[in-house]
Amino acid sequence: MKPVDRHLADILATVRPLAPLEVEIEAALGAVLAEDVASPVPLPPFDNSAMDGYAVQAGDVAAVPVTLPVIGDVAAGDGGLNALGPGLVTRIMTGAPLPAGADAVVPVEWTDGGTARVRIDRPAPPGNAIRRAGEDVRAGDVVLREGARIGPAQIGILAGVGRRRVLVRPRPRVVVLSTGAELSEPGTPLGAGHIWESNSFMLAAAVREAGAEGFRAGSVTDDPKEFMDTLDAQLLRADAVITSGGVSMGAYEPVKEALSPLGTVTFEKVAMQPGMPQGFGVVGPDRVPIFTLPGNPVSSFVSFVLFVKPALRAMQGLPAGPPATVRATVTAPVRSPAGKRSYLRAVLTGETVAPVTGQGSHQLAALAAANALIVVPEDETSLPEGAEVEVIPL
Ligand code: AMP
Ligand code: MG
Repeated sequence: MKPVDRHLADILATVRPLAPLEVEIEAALGAVLAEDVASPVPLPPFDNSAMDGYAVQAGDVAAVPVTLPVIGDVAAGDGGLNALGPGLVTRIMTGAPLPAGADAVVPVEWTDGGTARVRIDRPAPPGNAIRRAGEDVRAGDVVLREGARIGPAQIGILAGVGRRRVLVRPRPRVVVLSTGAELSEPGTPLGAGHIWESNSFMLAAAVREAGAEGFRAGSVTDDPKEFMDTLDAQLLRADAVITSGGVSMGAYEPVKEALSPLGTVTFEKVAMQPGMPQGFGVVGPDRVPIFTLPGNPVSSFVSFVLFVKPALRAMQGLPAGPPATVRATVTAPVRSPAGKRSYLRAVLTGETVAPVTGQGSHQLAALAAANALIVVPEDETSLPEGAEVEVIPL
């Protein structure tokens, strides 16, 4: 059997970051920056007032109370200002440029609020309530680095440095296709021998949570031709494809039957539980990566966490590797098959981790009650209560 780490290494050696694309900043949410973004100007671009008040020469208000003539108003957005001479003040609003000659702002709350003359009751030291040019960003400073995930604040600073468009790696478009003659759409009646189809919903959601676009292509029966036709139709819009089911050792395995003859997808046994039967390769003229995951819901979910999620990071130009782990103490004995790495569903609370009841790979409710996977190494077949284990938080 193929080691888990080698399967991931093969996948990461195949997938490539998506080509960068210039988009309007409004469309950049969730994408990964593909350039360093520098500011063409200092921010703030000019010295300005942090408060509504009066621009003064600090020396004129050192002894208070003092009443001084108000020579005018400076509002936010004003340009071409007159310089302020000694003994004079001007009203100034938040964000308005500081007139030459002024070196402090007296907040309106420290005054009588006069418009022709103003009485100032508290001294303002030099620099008071002034926002200096370049205090946030100097001209030429890089404000966002390539590889940053773009959230609302990042869109804010892109606009703040005057950018209308930005180079990003787009969110990978990932099509999720389930196979199984036994699958019924949720919301429709359950026929004899059927179960409701859950994997495409779960995997499409996992794709979105990983920063990519997930599209459910629904499910097809166990007919390899129907599978292949649906896959061909979906390839047009896919940067990657995830299938579930149809890769085991039984009869009626449409994914394996349809893709094996192509020679570009490899089906293997990976030394893990759950999720042993795995397939990975490329399909179509554009060589779109395809992950053929096993159908058992817990197997497909664990396979996503171990293999697909890192691949989606790599496609977004992000550092990619095995999922991060933490160490914790297990609250009950655990067992694991020899030669396979086990991923047991568990609840992680602080530094302890409790396996949930129901470790079957079909037991989706148990997965939904878990928030972590306990990793049991290949060479361990059992661990006692109190053992220290590696845990993947979900
Ligand atoms: P397979 O990998 O196709 O042999 O399926 C393994 C098990 O997973 C079977 O019990 C299937 O009924 C179940 N299964 C396969 N696909 C799905 C799905 N999309 N949703 C829920 N269960 C599934
Ligand atoms: Mg099946």
